[in-house]
Amino acid sequence: MKIIVIPGDGIGPETMAACDEVLSAVSQKFQLGLELEHAIAGHESLKSLGATVTTELLEKVKNSDGLMLGPMATYDFKDESKGEINPSMFFRKKLDLFANIRPAKTYPGIAKRTASDFDLIVLRENTEGFYADRNVESGGSEMLITPDVVISLRRITRQCCERIAKSAFELAKNRKKHVTIVHKANVLKIGDGMFIDICRETAKAYPDIKVDDLIVDAMMAHAVRAPEKFDVIVTTNMFGDILSDLTAELSGSLGLAGTLNAGAHYAMGQAAHGSAPDIAGQNIANPLSQIISAAMLLEWHGQRKGLAQFKLAAQAIEETAVHLMQTAQVTPDVGGHLKTDSTALAFVKHLLSR
Ligand code: NAD
Repeated sequence: MKIIVIPGDGIGPETMAACDEVLSAVSQKFQLGLELEHAIAGHESLKSLGATVTTELLEKVKNSDGLMLGPMATYDFKDESKGEINPSMFFRKKLDLFANIRPAKTYPGIAKRTASDFDLIVLRENTEGFYADRNVESGGSEMLITPDVVISLRRITRQCCERIAKSAFELAKNRKKHVTIVHKANVLKIGDGMFIDICRETAKAYPDIKVDDLIVDAMMAHAVRAPEKFDVIVTTNMFGDILSDLTAELSGSLGLAGTLNAGAHYAMGQAAHGSAPDIAGQNIANPLSQIISAAMLLEWHGQRKGLAQFKLAAQAIEETAVHLMQTAQVTPDVGGHLKTDSTALAFVKHLLSR
């Protein structure tokens, strides 16, 4: 399996270095034959190549078996005409990575921010919605009507609703068999109305799976009050972006939030959080989010190619992450005293000794 590895901005080089070590170790242990090819995007690419991402890089990714993308300083990239393209958007759009899968669960040994333990997935549509940089073919979908008036458009299509709904039920099939549709159909009656209708229509093919729906504002209260009541939560792009940071933090830290961005042909592992400039360069960022994302990418590849050892490798990564948390070999955001690099060392040591 050839993986393109892009460290990214801010804490990215630190967390991705840790992830690299884990991938090399797991490749050795499970004979995965991983080939890690490093590339650049974001600030480093803007400085040396004049753009945060390039078409050559896209081709390289298309010719590989997967992408590990580090966090990007998206907020810094304001003008596409100056090469300041949002790399996360670029890959999600160009590779049609429509499913943004964000698990959040509590772990023994980690102080959660809720009364009860939980294990859920936020499944966020990734290619349209309220995201001005990806819901139109070219240009953006925000318009300055007068110097004081802005219109931002939101795109919802039948095709995108259908494929994300199907992904939700496929995920729930092998979990607790419960899908919650999160929406704002009381206000966005047509767009979110169609989203709910399509999810409910899709549900008919999965009679064993319980389906309910919640308005997004109420969902925030329910997620804080009783996150254990949820299994797979399917929602549109922006709601999922916001909700998944909340559920990650409820589980202990945003630094635990792994993500897989998956489409029909390509996939990209990328931690849910951003470049965290407030802690960059201090060797204290939690690398587990990146490492968990890598495990998700390995599992995706194994499932696609029918390679059992990739699933075993992903499980070993997950179990090692649990062991580190149970034994407090973690970074300060989750109550530990380890640095980013020493977390990687402890991770590899346990992984190889299992
Ligand atoms: P952020 O997600 O980078 O950080 C939010 C908070 O979580 C900060 O206090 C940070 O220190 C903490 N945090 C994040 N990751 C952590 C980790 N691994 N370990 C420990 N603590 C961690 O959000 P922000 O500061 O609002 O955004 C910074 C930049 O990242 C912005 O340019 C933003 O646009 C961008 N961003 C990119 C992505 C992405 O690339 N997918 C996602 C979100 C934000």
